[in-house]
Amino acid sequence: MLLGKIEKRLAEAEFEHGREAGSTLLIAVSKVQPNERVKGVLEQGHRCFGENRVQEAASKWPEFRQQFADIDLHLIGPLQSNKVRQAMELFDSIHSLDRPKLAQTLARIAQELGKCPDIFIQVNTGKELQKAGLMPEDTDNFVADCIKLDLPIKGLMCIPPFHEPAMPHFKNLSNMAKRNGLLGLSMGMSSDFEDAIRYGATHVRVGSAIFGDRVYEAKQ
Ligand SMILES: *Cc1c(COP(=O)(O)O)cnc(C)c1O
Repeated sequence: MLLGKIEKRLAEAEFEHGREAGSTLLIAVSKVQPNERVKGVLEQGHRCFGENRVQEAASKWPEFRQQFADIDLHLIGPLQSNKVRQAMELFDSIHSLDRPKLAQTLARIAQELGKCPDIFIQVNTGKELQKAGLMPEDTDNFVADCIKLDLPIKGLMCIPPFHEPAMPHFKNLSNMAKRNGLLGLSMGMSSDFEDAIRYGATHVRVGSAIFGDRVYEAKQ
């Protein structure tokens, strides 16, 4: 049972690094996984999941929500402006706020809906050109602007560069959150979630280690 193994490793990492037991939320990243596998994890009692595409999430989660109570669904991938309303209706948390225009759109639609998912601001800690997220030097001002817009900012999120050690990025993100008075830290994936817990992750996003490898269908 892979879920049980990961839960055990998570608890051990919390203990080893002096973190309070249960202070790290395990987001099971179910993108691309067949519904059977997702259902298997739901049947083991897990309720917290992550998806990186609004469309894909919309095609499977409303039905799972009818079958299983208390599902906690997180958007961890990029959000286009024209999908904001749908995302806000579908997800309990959004981890990918990465630009001023999107902050304004979220704030406007939150007013209309009278509710808003918890929001994480994505920071491009590695300053990679192809990657989404605020530049680290712009992050403090952006956090302040989002709070002025009344957005429920929970914390910061990062995806460290693939070919670098992740720990300096985790440390950096943790410092940025601290100096902005934010408690949430969404960082760490299958290969490095224990390191992320060491640096204070409150949300780890673990996919393949729970579900097995993602099998992408060949593009035509
Ligand atoms: C896919 C994905 C993950 C999970 O990746 P694994 O290596 O399978 O654990 C985590 N975070 C984001 C943003 C992702 O897109």
